[in-house]
Amino acid sequence: TVGCVAVDINGHCAAATSTGGLVNKMVGRIGDTPLIGAGTYANEFCAVSTTGKGEEIIRCLCAKEVASLMEYKYLPLKEATDTVIWKKLGEGNGGLIAVSSTGEVAMTFNTLGMFRACATEDGHRQIGIWKDACYDDD
Ligand code: ASP
Repeated sequence: TVGCVAVDINGHCAAATSTGGLVNKMVGRIGDTPLIGAGTYANEFCAVSTTGKGEEIIRCLCAKEVASLMEYKYLPLKEATDTVIWKKLGEGNGGLIAVSSTGEVAMTFNTLGMFRACATEDGHRQIGIWKDACYDDD
């Protein structure tokens, strides 16, 4: 997966997700990635991009679920992503990156690893960058 989430200075959120799909997938299979609400979602609360076992991500409607927990249960981003990844998506099935309209970032996964990075900009200037290839969420 190559996923990206972004928020601008006015709190507008955007998400995009691309994938080659799972190895040995069925011919004609449509995974979670192009399904809005499953692999990709953005609204006025957050932007979310997911990776992992598409069938499970579709069942969980992971990306939309994060946004719904923020909107209807008033959860902060990190609690919403923890709930979706640890309580709703099965163990070992995937992860996500997310950003809220107020700029919180979450990169939560229940697989062994997930390559991820985060960049912060002030206008046109990059003021921070962080990346990690390690094997847990902390
Ligand atoms: N979620 C993708 C799929 O199931 C695989 C991936 O890129 O993580 O097709």
